[in-house]
Amino acid sequence: MIASALLAVTVAFPRPGQTLPPVAASYMSGAVPRGVTNLVVQGKPVEIYRTGGWVTMVDLAEGENEVEIVADGVATNVVVMVERKPKPKLDAEGNPLPPPPPKVYEKLAYAADEAQTPPAGKSPAEVLVVIDPGHGGPKDTGAVSPHGFFEKDANLALARDVKAALVALGYRVEMTRESDVAVPLYDRARGACEKRADAFISIHHNATACDKDPRIVRYTAVYKWNDIGASLAAAINARMGGVLEGDIPNNGVMHANFAVTRNPQVPSCLVETDFITTPEGEEAIWNPARRRRIAAAIADGFADWASQSVP
Ligand SMILES: [Zn+2]
Repeated sequence: MIASALLAVTVAFPRPGQTLPPVAASYMSGAVPRGVTNLVVQGKPVEIYRTGGWVTMVDLAEGENEVEIVADGVATNVVVMVERKPKPKLDAEGNPLPPPPPKVYEKLAYAADEAQTPPAGKSPAEVLVVIDPGHGGPKDTGAVSPHGFFEKDANLALARDVKAALVALGYRVEMTRESDVAVPLYDRARGACEKRADAFISIHHNATACDKDPRIVRYTAVYKWNDIGASLAAAINARMGGVLEGDIPNNGVMHANFAVTRNPQVPSCLVETDFITTPEGEEAIWNPARRRRIAAAIADGFADWASQSVP
């Protein structure tokens, strides 16, 4: 019966046996084979999307949780672990300690002190852009979609299209990875500094926090850390918001202390294209025509920024 149970339904997140942080509820996602029309998770009916993907919220308790998934009468039980809540830190008198101060990030050791300005006045052939497809390699898959597709692959597919769109505009482009290989996080920004690249654009696809419902969280956004990254992020976001209007909401430019956005030398930003964790997002991300439109928007946003006159 195990074989038929495995055929009936797959679970992409949380993986069976996965340990989650201390949460009272988490999303669970997966896919059913064609023809399955009835899905019940933890006693509640769950909507199956056009592609067979599904997602729902499940209640969890500290320790071991057994979640029953019934697809057309065939049950699969998935065991998920939930970590214990950490005890609050107390002072000598038993009062809660104040939260720790926010982290202060130091300049990247290999970066120059001088921030580079936008390459206005340079011809496209003199401008070098580093495109960074996020994650990669067997251990760092990034987020996982209901059918078990990895964010690292979606990032590489979009990054290749962005590279093609930028090359078509005449820019020089280098990628931090051209295939499914692991690249250490800090080496990604290091390369851009060492080559004195004019800009660094990291390409990602978003995932909701495990206790947020992916069915109601979906948007595009571009993240920046410092002033030199802000105008690059704004130019790319403006074009992305335009091309995705009526498709998904645009959350605009957001501030984020990511390792790849904190570059003090090279204008840098991180694109969170869409959410891979909702079945609708998963389907949209693998639409090649839509992906090329998004890639063209990123390239056009870059070109807008690169030709801005420096104040
Ligand atoms: Zn990512």
